[in-house]
Amino acid sequence: MGVSETEAIVLRTYKLAEADKITVFLSQHSGVMRGVARGARRLKSKFGAALEPFTLVSLSYYEKEGQELVAIRDAEILRSYFELSKNTEAVVALEYIGGLILEFTPPHEPNEKVFRMLRACLDAIASAPEALRQITRYCEVWLLKLSGFLPDLRSCLNCKKVFSEQNEKAYLGIDGALRCGNCAHKADLPVSGAAVAQLLATQRLAPVEWSRASSAVSEMVSKELSQVTQRLITRALERLPRGRATVE
Ligand SMILES: [Zn+2]
Repeated sequence: MGVSETEAIVLRTYKLAEADKITVFLSQHSGVMRGVARGARRLKSKFGAALEPFTLVSLSYYEKEGQELVAIRDAEILRSYFELSKNTEAVVALEYIGGLILEFTPPHEPNEKVFRMLRACLDAIASAPEALRQITRYCEVWLLKLSGFLPDLRSCLNCKKVFSEQNEKAYLGIDGALRCGNCAHKADLPVSGAAVAQLLATQRLAPVEWSRASSAVSEMVSKELSQVTQRLITRALERLPRGRATVE
């Protein structure tokens, strides 16, 4: 408790009273937090543009025992992704990604991997906005993995048979597990070997590299990847994720 400093990525802001802002941010070491920035909506606010969504900032805040909202004292821009705010598709995708992070990351639960992943994805979108769709997919796969909702991509849940062949299909069940052709259930979603390989590749490739590799796969495999993440996210949240239809 007391004053803390952290790197953070602003996810959302809301108006509060006449001149204040509530800011929802993903901090590097303490997970998702909410803070009040007094006077942030005044013309000559000391916060300037630092609290705009998807800005990487160095934050100083005051935290009081038992209070959910922290008081933001200072915010300095480390990297602004302002150029993306003119790209409507990027704004929609970032809102979607921000929403997913809020769904998958409980408040105040430290998760530095999510922070690093989001930061890498923001850098990737800024440097390769044309790969927006693939980078969004990459974020989905990583959020599923980091929250324990990505199934074992290497072998069948039932018989442990390894999915090694490129052209061998795996089957995604409504329980979110992958099975081989022998163990699959009737309503399972078939997933090609190429799609499984692409999902596995998220674990060794950075977002820009993965999106490059993904732009080389067929439209059918892209569609499969979309169906797989949609099924897994829907299962995790017990409903369709908000804004996904717009992103697709
Ligand atoms: Zn099996």
